[in-house]
Amino acid sequence: MSEFTSGDYTEEEGRRLEAWKRARDYSDPERKAAACAILLEVAGGDDLRAALHRHPARGTYLSKDFLIAAYREMVASGQLREDPAMAERLRMKPVRTLSGVATVSVLTRPYPCPGTCIFCPDDSRMPKSYLADEPGALRASQNAFDPHRQVTSRLASLESVGHPTDKVELLILGGTWSAYPKDYRDEFVRRCLDALNGEESATLVEAQRKNEQAARRNVGLVVETRPDYIRPEELFHMRKLGVTKVQVGVQSLDDRILALNCRGHSVAETRRAFRLMRAAGFKIQAHWMPNLLGATPESDREDFARMFDDPDLRPDELKIYPTILVENSALYSYFERGEYRPYPYEELLELIAAIKPAIPPYCRVNRLARDFPVVHVVAGNKRSNLREDVQRLMAARGEHCVCIRCREVRGLHVSRGDLHLEDMAYEACGGEERFLSFVTTDNRLAGYLRLWLPGTRSLDLQWLDLERAAIVRDVHIYGQTLPLGGNQEGAAQHLGLGTELLSSAEQIARGAGFSNLAVISAIGTRNYYRNRGFEDGELYLVKKLD
Ligand code: SF4
Ligand SMILES: [Zn+2]
Repeated sequence: MSEFTSGDYTEEEGRRLEAWKRARDYSDPERKAAACAILLEVAGGDDLRAALHRHPARGTYLSKDFLIAAYREMVASGQLREDPAMAERLRMKPVRTLSGVATVSVLTRPYPCPGTCIFCPDDSRMPKSYLADEPGALRASQNAFDPHRQVTSRLASLESVGHPTDKVELLILGGTWSAYPKDYRDEFVRRCLDALNGEESATLVEAQRKNEQAARRNVGLVVETRPDYIRPEELFHMRKLGVTKVQVGVQSLDDRILALNCRGHSVAETRRAFRLMRAAGFKIQAHWMPNLLGATPESDREDFARMFDDPDLRPDELKIYPTILVENSALYSYFERGEYRPYPYEELLELIAAIKPAIPPYCRVNRLARDFPVVHVVAGNKRSNLREDVQRLMAARGEHCVCIRCREVRGLHVSRGDLHLEDMAYEACGGEERFLSFVTTDNRLAGYLRLWLPGTRSLDLQWLDLERAAIVRDVHIYGQTLPLGGNQEGAAQHLGLGTELLSSAEQIARGAGFSNLAVISAIGTRNYYRNRGFEDGELYLVKKLD
């Protein structure tokens, strides 16, 4: 394993790292004085944004992160009265936990990827496809890619700004997960769980058991891989680890474009991967890339349409990563020879605004651009607010996105009486998907459940737990993450929506003739399902319906 220290940074990266560290230095007196002035003004009723702008420090505005740290200190020293509403307003990025869960990203160590995709950056200090000074990568290299240290430091920073961390989704990033040695993968997950548990375990199974009862539970485990690495044995191993969601690099749905970009797999392999993942009940997040070598805005539109027209695809979540031209990628030489052209910003904006309205309500668009630091972008999109620009353009045209993310209730307080249950059915992978959701009268989403009813044309993995079973692939209830036992008024998580959704799923599955209902549970949600009549199988929790 190659260890990575700050000595390996270039001068420019070193400067960025220093700036990153400075922004997290809560002892700086000049910043503290500015924070103090801002907080006193906000406590006195002033607008937060205006106060922030009135008191810059060291040539920039203070981060909310810094403000929260200062708020805590001032409350502790008695300079400020504790005020939960004010603390909530100060929160760094409320969106991060409003979905009910704290997300912790962890990078695997640098390791060769089996892929040779021409657009992929190649930085030997990083797992493939990551740049050393991307936001997530900095923390990883600072912690020498040690999973335990990465999780611990992320939890500490979330807690320092007042985020609850009792429900944690672990996002394992870096290259192709399935290509790492199996021992490394087992050990990696065990160490992540050890960090959540706050104690060591001798084995992965022991760490998982402990996490079922731990104060910080793992409520989702996500890995990223390539379609051609998704095989039944691989999915079986993922379940053993506790994986609940797979991020899969689709990139294009055109064999010509895949070949031109040296992806090393075909569309047929992508479709098979989706059929396998659905058969195993995983949540599926697809990554799709417009502006690859050989694509045009017109071909990209057709390409994207296949994503939801084809019943063998239809992902649950989507990341749209417009190709970014970076110098340390093979694509760069095509650009130099004049054989590749990044779309100008306006063209890209038009393209995304054109495809977005076609995204169905059961899909969540998680991202619209990759977080590459602008210094590495040779040509093409350098703006990070593509999402906002797209929204503005769509709004001007009287269109809006109905994807999950755009409809989530977020901080909105809802009561059970505001909500009604909707049941959307669509064909997928030879069976039927049912997207059950609780929505408000103005179509805001308070929670949902994904139920898959395999059909005679679906793939059958022949796993015991899944015999004659319909599968609950996802249950998601929104609302501010509450510390266990918390009682924030109106939070959707506490309206019993999950239980209602599960009983609807049960009725539907029974009505369709299934004998069992299997649920793909994260380690930390096993007890939730056991309390609702599910029993432990080898890989899933299963409830008998007869
Ligand atoms: S498979 Fe992914 S990480 Fe590997 S080279 Fe291709 S894009 Fe990069
Ligand atoms: Zn949307």
